[in-house]
Amino acid sequence: MTRGARVSGVAVLGSTGSIGTTALRVLDRQSARFRVAALTAFNNAELLRQQVDRFHPSFVGIVENGVDPGSTWRVGVNCLVEAARREDVDIVLNAVVGAAGLEATLVALEHGKRVALANKETLVMAGQLVAEASASGGGEIVPVDSEHSAILQCISGRPGVEVRRVILTASGGPFREWDANEVAEATVADALRHPTWQMGRKITVDSATLANKALEVIEAHFLFGLSYDRIEVVVHPQSVVHSFVEFVDGSVLAQLGVPSMELPVLYALTHPDRIPDSGVPPFDPVAQSPLTFEPVRTESFPALQLGVAAGRTGGAAPAVFNAANEEAVGLFLAGRIRFGDIPVAIAGALDALGAMPSHDRPSILAADAAARRFVRGFFKC
Ligand code: NAD
Ligand code: MG
Repeated sequence: MTRGARVSGVAVLGSTGSIGTTALRVLDRQSARFRVAALTAFNNAELLRQQVDRFHPSFVGIVENGVDPGSTWRVGVNCLVEAARREDVDIVLNAVVGAAGLEATLVALEHGKRVALANKETLVMAGQLVAEASASGGGEIVPVDSEHSAILQCISGRPGVEVRRVILTASGGPFREWDANEVAEATVADALRHPTWQMGRKITVDSATLANKALEVIEAHFLFGLSYDRIEVVVHPQSVVHSFVEFVDGSVLAQLGVPSMELPVLYALTHPDRIPDSGVPPFDPVAQSPLTFEPVRTESFPALQLGVAAGRTGGAAPAVFNAANEEAVGLFLAGRIRFGDIPVAIAGALDALGAMPSHDRPSILAADAAARRFVRGFFKC
């Protein structure tokens, strides 16, 4: 976006969450380029009201009622889709957590919008549908996830045939050095103590199981059209190198930065352009030293291989992986199951349901619902 270009309208879906509030901080600084046109949240009406007072969006939606009678806010699940297709919205920043974000992504793409996508779960569950929605409506996805933002920045402008492989970095989470038995018995408090990133509860647990990295491998497959043989993962505890791209001549590019989501959010708004006044402090390599890398200890984190295998299987398997994980993480956070039960539930759901049909929206949603039922039945919840 060049100076003097028109101001783009942005809908922030999930504005009260970790990414949503980060995005509003970024947008506040960039008010000459972007206008907050719509805000939606699940139920934190008080914070949403403060955001409305600050940004004056033309549309406000809340999924669960919690607003005064007579308010102009839209209430109910449809508010996401309404926000995503508005005429005054050019960019939909989807920062909703979980499968609930799917319809809004599809509708935004069908209406030709840019989707700045933090909500990786919906690309995982319905990568093919997302591609079809982009093709039919002319919309595009630009990733917010820091690893995928890094890859996009490294390969921008180069044809896909020049990319040999990508290597996603993973912090390793709070249990990087724990043995498999200790990991299985980890408490909710242990799992929520992430070493490098401040995030919502679901993704923080996903980072502890490494299910998050499996979601990201599948996300990379769909975003960049890479086969699974060309996507690898390495543990990098400092979270400063956000990912690597190796090209066919053996050259390797990486994108670096301190662990903050502000830059990936901003880049998803401005891609392929860069703007000078990002507010990001200068990078100090000495202060960030040392940068270290380790192989993943897959035996302690079975969710990673389960998810990558589901990606390779394709069809409904990624949707089943995603839904089983989401349901199991919810039960773990509610104190109903052990940390070690999460991958067990995922494996059971994939065995039972991984081959369900997946050709259209109803069949993907049916696979998602069946996986959730399976996990609840598995634990008699
Ligand atoms: P969060 O839990 O902090 O926020 C989620 C937001 O979505 C909240 O505003 C909430 O009100 C809303 N929401 C929750 N359930 C909803 C529903 N059923 N319908 C509509 N809205 C709903 O989560 P987060 O950490 O901000 O993560 C959001 C997404 O971004 C996730 O997909 C996550 O994987 C991804 N992501 C997050 C980070 C991070 O640093 N937090 C980094 C990369 C990717
Ligand atoms: Mg990430």
